[in-house]
Amino acid sequence: MKIPLLDLAAQHNPIEKEIRTAIDRVLKSQYFILGPEVKGLENRIADYCGAQYAVGASSGTDALIMALMALEIGPGDEVITTPYTFFATASAIARVGARPVFVDIDPKTYNINPALISQAKTAQTKAIIPVHLYGQCADIEPILRWAKSEKIFVIEDAAQAIGAEYKDGQKAGSMGDLGCFSFFPSKNLGAMGDGGMVCANDKGLYEKLLAMRVHGSKTKYFHQWLGGNFRLDALQAAIVNVKLDSLNSWTKARQNNAAQYEALLKQTNLIAEGKVQLPLPVFPDRVFGHIYNQFVLRVENRDALRGFLTKAEIGTEIYYPLPLHLQECFKFLGYNQGDFPESEKAAQETLALPIYPGLSIQMQEYVVSKISKFYQ
Ligand SMILES: *Cc1c(COP(=O)(O)O)cnc(C)c1O
Repeated sequence: MKIPLLDLAAQHNPIEKEIRTAIDRVLKSQYFILGPEVKGLENRIADYCGAQYAVGASSGTDALIMALMALEIGPGDEVITTPYTFFATASAIARVGARPVFVDIDPKTYNINPALISQAKTAQTKAIIPVHLYGQCADIEPILRWAKSEKIFVIEDAAQAIGAEYKDGQKAGSMGDLGCFSFFPSKNLGAMGDGGMVCANDKGLYEKLLAMRVHGSKTKYFHQWLGGNFRLDALQAAIVNVKLDSLNSWTKARQNNAAQYEALLKQTNLIAEGKVQLPLPVFPDRVFGHIYNQFVLRVENRDALRGFLTKAEIGTEIYYPLPLHLQECFKFLGYNQGDFPESEKAAQETLALPIYPGLSIQMQEYVVSKISKFYQ
């Protein structure tokens, strides 16, 4: 049996006709940049995420840059975030000229540890970017409380977490000042190319985001700020709009697959023996707030297990092999090995398994049987 890490065709095939209809509509209109397709998607995403406003962007990375620009964060400013995330979270901070300041993660959830954030604050701290990693909300309540008392902005990096729910059902991306999403094809809601979105609840910030997206201009050819070309195009918006109809059922399928993996792994001795650790929810009573963009195990002898599964034609991935404070391009920040031990440990010990909607029970049984075989 051959099992890829992700099978996008399994999601695409049943909705191919609707997607082609949407593409044809855009082709007929010859309206490619922003316009009604983008506006329509913005309204639906704001609604879906429980935010007042949403602004389409050219990618998740650009969504983060746009958000930072709208908050006027730049040279001389510091932004706190996690070193255990996709590169773009921290590169966006550096690219607007601000300084990323890292804080270690909670080893159970892999999300930023709220207990450590206050010691990272300086007079220059302007914002914090918690990441809802793998599709599970960071423990954001203490972060929001702290940020409010310190007058610091909160930008949620919800690129992996569209539809994920926090404690009381609040949706990822709607809780901070701004929330950033990505429609990269491998995200739970993916475009057929690049795309992203920023959610906002404040009207002033919303209007500033609209301006930042078109070179900092509210009136054409008059520029109040230095923005960028961060526009989402109509084709991608039309495609994402069709896929949004399936998102809840895809999320359910991912959650069912996660529950199935847990049941299968619990039938082995692997968890009791400490060889394998399941992904742990921040709030045990709200397991289903997790949307499982990735299903990530912490395992003994990770690299050898991965090699074994690759030989068995089971796709896996390491998110992420090198924490951001140790990346070459961030040497200038002056961090060293050992500065963020939990992030470094996670980078050594975690492995993502296939979790996509369309993964069958037989496939999951096969994956778990191979993992068992490896540890025998
Ligand atoms: C994917 C991702 C991004 C960037 O999104 P792109 O659309 O690829 O630019 C940012 N942050 C996180 C956590 C991501 O997973």
